[in-house]
Amino acid sequence: MIPRMSANSNLLERSLSAVWHPCTQMKRHENLPLVPIARGDGVWLYDPEGKRYLDAVSSWWVNLFGHCNPRINAALTDQLGKLEHVMLAGFTHEPVVQLSERLRALAPAGLGHCFYGSDGASATEIALKMSAHYWRNNGKPEKTQFISMQNSYHGETLGALSVTDVALFRDAYGALIRQNATVPSPDSREAEAGESPDAFALRCADALETHLHAHHGNIAAFIVEPLIQGAAGMAMYHPVYLLRARELCSRFGVHLIADEIAVGMGRTGTMFACEQAPPPLALPQGERGISPDFLLLSKGITGGYLPLSIVMTTDDIYQAFYADETARGFLHSHSYTGNPLACRAALATLDIFAQDDVLNANRSKAAFFNRIAQPLREHPRVRNFRNTGMVWAFEVDTPHADFAQRCFSLGLQHELLLRPMGNTVYFMPPYVIGEDEMRLLVTHTLKVIDRLI
Ligand SMILES: *Cc1c(COP(=O)(O)O)cnc(C)c1O
Repeated sequence: MIPRMSANSNLLERSLSAVWHPCTQMKRHENLPLVPIARGDGVWLYDPEGKRYLDAVSSWWVNLFGHCNPRINAALTDQLGKLEHVMLAGFTHEPVVQLSERLRALAPAGLGHCFYGSDGASATEIALKMSAHYWRNNGKPEKTQFISMQNSYHGETLGALSVTDVALFRDAYGALIRQNATVPSPDSREAEAGESPDAFALRCADALETHLHAHHGNIAAFIVEPLIQGAAGMAMYHPVYLLRARELCSRFGVHLIADEIAVGMGRTGTMFACEQAPPPLALPQGERGISPDFLLLSKGITGGYLPLSIVMTTDDIYQAFYADETARGFLHSHSYTGNPLACRAALATLDIFAQDDVLNANRSKAAFFNRIAQPLREHPRVRNFRNTGMVWAFEVDTPHADFAQRCFSLGLQHELLLRPMGNTVYFMPPYVIGEDEMRLLVTHTLKVIDRLI
């Protein structure tokens, strides 16, 4: 075994020497070893020695149907033999057309046009640019401001950071970022004692109304993470907020951008989180769900295989750019826009949703998980245990200031890939997780937590 061990540590050294890892203070790795991964299978990641880790965070929220999924692999292999890439300006291909048509049929009504980017942050950039450009093309060039929620996260390029309210990611770049306003987050944890989540959400929507009333003349769009603010620590809120946000944005002539990069593709229990908004208060028997002006998808759209993002938008937006003059068009581009391999992975992902009735299967899985997670929910040091769809989160009452780091390291010792945010532990597993794996996730997490309180 000695030669393989050294090959392994050699890989870590080479990585630290040549690779600048994301979201990382590299000096930390003087004490904290990198984790080498040689292969994946279902919910499991394996290191070169065969030690396994349950990927409880779906590799940064992207994986839906497990690592090395045979059906997605087969689709990609087939596509590799046909066409790996062609530029999308002036050209087209079957995977990008099919994907756009199928998403149009699945998404909330009215979102008929798909614009492609390569990752989540680029989708945010595209939506912000399109929104402001729409107003400019419609004779309202003064509408250039954006609003987002407190603790929002929409990506980390400079434009996306201007609507991201996470100090740690923002502060160093403050001088480079446009100042946009934030409105109160309806995060249910912030409700007053005795205030219901829906009453609190409505109170926050009143603050949005006040802001829009005063400033709508300069505001192009309001960008939201529907139902769950992921990077805020899986902050969950009542869907009535989405209904009110839709009504207010329509009333004040402001676009609503639904950033479903993390929550789309079934993660909240419906294909898109926007579907869960209740019917209008005046029409309690009416239809559920809202249609935003822009819907952003990335992360799970390819099943976690390849970078791809999509900005879906309405005919109204599309038509504002449709003209004889070149400059009225949306001239944005990325080299890999609409990459056929990534689109094919997305089509295979949509096939699995349809063939396996995934949304229903996930409802049973979530109910099962909630039953077996009872010891966690009732643990004396666990607070705010919450669940939406296939996301669970809770805070741990811990004396350790470096809880997140310790929990991550102890998790690895217990076959778990957990990546807490502060003292918030969350589970966002691939949908293929089985009952035994769910049991292991609960019992091993309990062991980890009991060593950190
Ligand atoms: C991850 C994420 C993004 C950014 O996506 P990247 O692919 O990491 O650039 C944007 N918005 C939300 C809600 C996200 O979770």
